[in-house]
Amino acid sequence: MSRPKSAQVVFNEFGMPVATEFDDIYFSNDNGLAESRYVFLAQNDLPARWHQHSRSRFVVAETGFGTGLNVLALMQSFLTHAPSHLHLHIVSFEKYPLQVADMQRAHAQFPELAAYATELQEHYPAPEPGCHRRLLAGGRVTLDLWFGDLLDTLPQWLPTAKHVVDAWFLDGFAPDKNPQMWQPELYHAMASASAPASTFATFTAAGAVRRGLQAAGYTVSKAAGYGRKREMLRGVIAEHTPAVIPDTGNLRRIAIVGGGIAAAAAAQSCRARGWEVHIVSAGIADGASGNPQAAVYPLLHAQRSPLAEYFVAAFGYAQNFYRQHAADYWHSCGVLQLNYTAERTLRAQKIVQEYSSEQVQLWSPQHVQNHWSELPAQSALWYPTGGWLEAANAVNALLTDSNHTQATVARIEPSVTGWHLYDQQSQLILAADAVILAAGAGLPELTADWQLQFQNVRGQVTMVSSTATTATCPSVICYKGYFTPALQSQHCVGATYARQFSATEASQSLPSDTDQNLATLSDNLAPQAWPKTLTAVADRTSLRNTSRDHLPVVGELAAKLAVIGALGSRGFTAAPLAAEIIAAQWAGEPQPINELLRQRLLPQRLQVDRAVPESAPDPQ
Ligand code: SAM
Repeated sequence: MSRPKSAQVVFNEFGMPVATEFDDIYFSNDNGLAESRYVFLAQNDLPARWHQHSRSRFVVAETGFGTGLNVLALMQSFLTHAPSHLHLHIVSFEKYPLQVADMQRAHAQFPELAAYATELQEHYPAPEPGCHRRLLAGGRVTLDLWFGDLLDTLPQWLPTAKHVVDAWFLDGFAPDKNPQMWQPELYHAMASASAPASTFATFTAAGAVRRGLQAAGYTVSKAAGYGRKREMLRGVIAEHTPAVIPDTGNLRRIAIVGGGIAAAAAAQSCRARGWEVHIVSAGIADGASGNPQAAVYPLLHAQRSPLAEYFVAAFGYAQNFYRQHAADYWHSCGVLQLNYTAERTLRAQKIVQEYSSEQVQLWSPQHVQNHWSELPAQSALWYPTGGWLEAANAVNALLTDSNHTQATVARIEPSVTGWHLYDQQSQLILAADAVILAAGAGLPELTADWQLQFQNVRGQVTMVSSTATTATCPSVICYKGYFTPALQSQHCVGATYARQFSATEASQSLPSDTDQNLATLSDNLAPQAWPKTLTAVADRTSLRNTSRDHLPVVGELAAKLAVIGALGSRGFTAAPLAAEIIAAQWAGEPQPINELLRQRLLPQRLQVDRAVPESAPDPQ
């Protein structure tokens, strides 16, 4: 997947954006907002249909996100008129993402949309290929932005999106200016993604478009066009036979085994679908998620690997998720990754060629020292939208609205309607329609029947008192380890990584690990002297669950029994998207990742006889 080119936009004499690539306007010079409301909302019978909708989500798909004006008009109408139990899910495809500055200028024309526009701009993704999921309006709206040519991205999306779309906004520049988009592949994809009684509306009345949509199975009619345009098209999909509608089951009660970030994110995603959530765990945030601070930034590779693809999508969604659901604990300060060896410098140079500057930048030694004068004169990668989370606090906050049963699950057995969870004394803890195993280091035991080759890795972090010097640390500093900005006059220095350890070492801190954390900091930040002056005040040891290929494990082990695992030391970046993948599958909703990647994450790949060879460990 190559990186999408940003849109080349100029503003015409009316102040309206024009795409130079297509020599066409994004919306009407007269009244773009009124046109959007007339063509796309009214001709899809919105908002009226929201009041008759029988499912809990209404899904709109759009070809050509452009400036996002249609989406803003849709959100405003939805949040004003739709019944409060309904969730809006928008999927929009865009080949040439606008830069935020152009988007801001375009949105400035519509002051009545300002609140929605500001939120969209703040959460707008970096121009990286693939799907970017964002929660908006406090989580009432889900926006999936697919960057790339829709003739490439639609086939990646479609296998996860059969019969889900309730209304299509068929936008895109005029067919004579952009014939490459108005193709039978698009119309057939629209039809197969359409839910029963799905509709479409488009500004064009071109005969080829009408015939193409009819051939794909739409009943098409003409309507009066907006303003000076004479006609436009609208239509409805011909009836599907009931057999083609996905059976999303009848989930009511979900048990989530685990008490860390994977469980907390899963709980949030399940509650957002209206399911009753029961957390089953001995404690909350008592494992690897219980550290006071966690860095959140993407894991990038010089070549786009499935791992990097997952982390680009997961990181973007994670920071959006924390801003919506744990804003008090999210610190959006950026993350700096020092090039402490010549090899790291080389790697960093390759990485910045591959990714957008919104995602990652290469800073010179001078730039690094201007950022914080206490850093060594090394170049570094800068992740502008990265940050850190008050980890344990955020997990506790995310779980406040979930039921919690304090128990240790020893066995899981299928029942007539779902699954039964038992404790060590074979006492039934809970019966649930579906279960998510999200127990981190507890997963090897919980999934023993499936023989998944997880590996637990021991890690120790060291808390140090902040000093006059370290208190000014402005962002997360990564090297071979990491150093976080101060929280309540302490910093977190992480972390050791031990595959071999004894049972005692698994739970107890080792003085030698404290020394190692501090020595790595001093060595990597030499010749700076301040790391040598730090005083360790506390340690925390935990086990992180990993896989040999370092990809997270996300998906069903058996029907309605899913796993989220192998998040390694990146649980806070990886977990929120993993939770959405499982919830989307069970709810029969569009997925936030492409089908190929979804399949690569499945737990079955770790089964003993299929296990992949071990790859190099995570670079920090
Ligand atoms: N709906 C937009 C709005 O509210 O601002 C206006 C859409 S503008 C008229 C058409 C959009 O379709 C442009 O942003 C263009 O880059 C996009 N587009 C054109 N061809 C495309 C393709 N093959 N795949 C994805 N997007 C495409």
